Amino acid sequence: MQTAQYSALGEAARRFIAEKRRLLIDGQWVDAADGKTFAAIDPATEGEICQLAEAGPDDVDRAVKAARRAFEDSKWSRMRPADRERLLLKLADLVEANTDQLAGLESLDVGKPLFLARIIDVHGTVEFLRYMAGWATKVEGRTLDVSIGIPNAEFQAYTLRQPIGVVAQIIPWNFPLAMAAWKLAPALAVGCTAVLKPAEQTCLTALRLGELIQEAGFPAGVVNILTGPGETTGAALVAHPGIDKIAFTGSTGVGKLIGKSAMDSLKRVSLELGGKSPVIIAADADLDQAIQGAADAIFFNQGQVCTAGSRLYAEQSVFDRVVAGVADIAKSLKLGAGYAPDTQLGPLVSGEQMERVLHYIDTGRREGGEVVTGGARHGGQGYFVQPTVFTNCGPNATVLREEIFGPVLVASPYRSVDDIAALANDTSYGLAASIWSNNLSFVHRLTKRIKAGTVWVNCHNFVDPNLPFGGFKQSGLGRENGRDAIDLYTETKTVLMKI
Ligand code: NAP
Ligand code: MG
Repeated sequence: MQTAQYSALGEAARRFIAEKRRLLIDGQWVDAADGKTFAAIDPATEGEICQLAEAGPDDVDRAVKAARRAFEDSKWSRMRPADRERLLLKLADLVEANTDQLAGLESLDVGKPLFLARIIDVHGTVEFLRYMAGWATKVEGRTLDVSIGIPNAEFQAYTLRQPIGVVAQIIPWNFPLAMAAWKLAPALAVGCTAVLKPAEQTCLTALRLGELIQEAGFPAGVVNILTGPGETTGAALVAHPGIDKIAFTGSTGVGKLIGKSAMDSLKRVSLELGGKSPVIIAADADLDQAIQGAADAIFFNQGQVCTAGSRLYAEQSVFDRVVAGVADIAKSLKLGAGYAPDTQLGPLVSGEQMERVLHYIDTGRREGGEVVTGGARHGGQGYFVQPTVFTNCGPNATVLREEIFGPVLVASPYRSVDDIAALANDTSYGLAASIWSNNLSFVHRLTKRIKAGTVWVNCHNFVDPNLPFGGFKQSGLGRENGRDAIDLYTETKTVLMKI
């Protein structure tokens, strides 16, 4: 467990993993009612990091009831918005003050390079919390004119936006701390209470965030954190009658299951699902930038990004140059444990995920795709997969159609704007796309035609708390971030007064 190789993580991160981690229910850290535990695994060594409590149905029930009591409690429901804002700002300060520890834990648990965990995951979380804190004091309804035809009567009508209530929030393993913040911050800003379930592969930073939430002074029960598998802990949470809304990020398959189950009791539901996002490089683009951008779009976070640029389309005349450039970058990347100092590409999150990705690579080969670089596991220990580039995949190739969630790119040429619009949209997903070009007319024409929740131009994978984020088609339902996130966690109440 506490081996010398963890020295780069720092003392505070090592202290956190020195003991078993428990569930946060009603302001207390508790064991699972039935005492069950499971292991957090280091994906670079396949070794155990520490034990975690595994929440069962009794724990889910206690957490939901605690969140319900906290929601109805006047300490929370009648708290001034400015005081909720202050709590979120306090939490942001605490996260910032614990940057080293949180980055160390995230790097260890997910396998991501430490410097990226620090900049993207922890700093991104601080910025997100501060942004959402501001929304606490800016929730607003509308006043409306009415035309009700009753003689000699006048009316006054307005709407209120009120917190939905108790929300179940289920998050994936690719950006565990940031996803916890994306879920919790808007819910807390508007006055909801929450039960958060991190992915079983990556619980550490969510649990540390739970401690910081307590330290910031949020009342007991406002945030509850349950660790355990999706099929048991997650499913029990989704099915619980005490939940008013479910917010989920993860695979499209599980998202559909959750959506269907939510409909049984008409729980509100928002879904942030998978993608197969195209990166489109026109011949007139700044090719050096576009090639580096295309490599970053797929290899960032080992390709475990819902908006990963996993389909590369380059205009015919520059296709060979673009593919060679991306392949050269892939070959140059230094693979290693996230916490090793010179690592550029870490392991995948789990053995299961590595096997999935390797299976996709085999399928790609079997279906006639050509591997330009990569195409195999890296080393014999840890869940490392070589960054891989495919060409010559047919339009129905599995690697072109399904979300792989690993460092695997499929490159294809295109000829015209009509051609590329059709290719880009030839997918069941619609999360994001990027266009690399200096031709404004081409960019605008294509942007309008692409069916995706985000279109980046001359950049990829950039997010900002103020920008709505979500998917067309099977990439999801609803938009997170910005003002849209406030709508996700509030209901509209119409008030009509005869005066
Ligand atoms: P997943 O199975 O959809 O898991 C996402 C979250 O849902 C996890 O917390 C998971 O818990 C939970 N969950 C799973 N089954 C559930 C159920 N029946 N009821 C309630 N909650 C449930 O995704 P994954 O296994 O982590 O990854 C599989 C694939 O999902 C990836 O290869 C990728 O294609 C996609 N993915 C997409 C995103 C995204 O941001 N869009 C992120 C991650 C993964 P446990 O993990 O603890 O079982
Ligand atoms: Mg892990």
